[in-house]
Amino acid sequence: MLIETLSVFPEVFEPYMSASIMGRARSMGALDFCAYDLRDWTHDRHRTVDDAPFGGGQGMLMKCEPIYEAVEDIRTKHETSPHIIFVTPCGASFDQACAQRLACHERLLFVCGRYEGMDERALDLADERISLGDYVLTGGELAALVIADAVVRLIPGVLGDEKSAVDESFSDGLLEYAQYTRPADYHGKQVPDVLLSGNHAAVDAWRRKSSLERTARFRPDLLEQAELSEQERVWVKQFMDQRAHNEGE
Ligand code: SAM
Repeated sequence: MLIETLSVFPEVFEPYMSASIMGRARSMGALDFCAYDLRDWTHDRHRTVDDAPFGGGQGMLMKCEPIYEAVEDIRTKHETSPHIIFVTPCGASFDQACAQRLACHERLLFVCGRYEGMDERALDLADERISLGDYVLTGGELAALVIADAVVRLIPGVLGDEKSAVDESFSDGLLEYAQYTRPADYHGKQVPDVLLSGNHAAVDAWRRKSSLERTARFRPDLLEQAELSEQERVWVKQFMDQRAHNEGE
């Protein structure tokens, strides 16, 4: 996969994109990364990318000309056209399903805003608009990094253990099961016996139930869409009753 970014702070990407799993993905050839500086597509001495909004108002807006020129230019740098993502509070909320969908693309180009945002006409270039959530960041670079991180770890081979991305929270619409490591007893807080039993079927069954319990406890909204067996529905009802009981105490 090739991930590209277009922003006025291209230097913020490299430290993250060369560390840990992102760095490993690049060194193993699963990921190529390139950060473009929007100012390279300006034509004035000051390399201006912003201007005051028509109609007045606070702050500055990113101009549409350099964005159009840059996107057109970047688009033709490789044979495969990029899937163009504008990170913006007016996009659809990012989630794991979106990460899975994006992981199927060969080439992603993130366009990142700054200042008070950008001229609305620039957004016409987007194949999709994605928001990290209902809050306002200073710039789109962090949003692009968050999305890139969630996508790159889904590329086959990047995590090493293929199962690790499959077992995780949201991969089946539920939160991940509770996990423990040594010591088995920490000041009386004990790891469930079944996890020490070596019985893989029993461990799998315990994990499914734990996953349902944690979802009912921390993110009950997720259960509306989850595919559950009859038995699992009974457990979920018990967990929800328990939750209501605890909240009433
Ligand atoms: N004035 C804009 C508004 O009220 O929607 C906010 C502009 S924000 C200060 C500057 C840039 O940060 C945006 O153009 C966008 O690229 C990025 N950004 C801010 N919040 C974001 C979010 N929740 N998700 C994705 N990108 C965001």
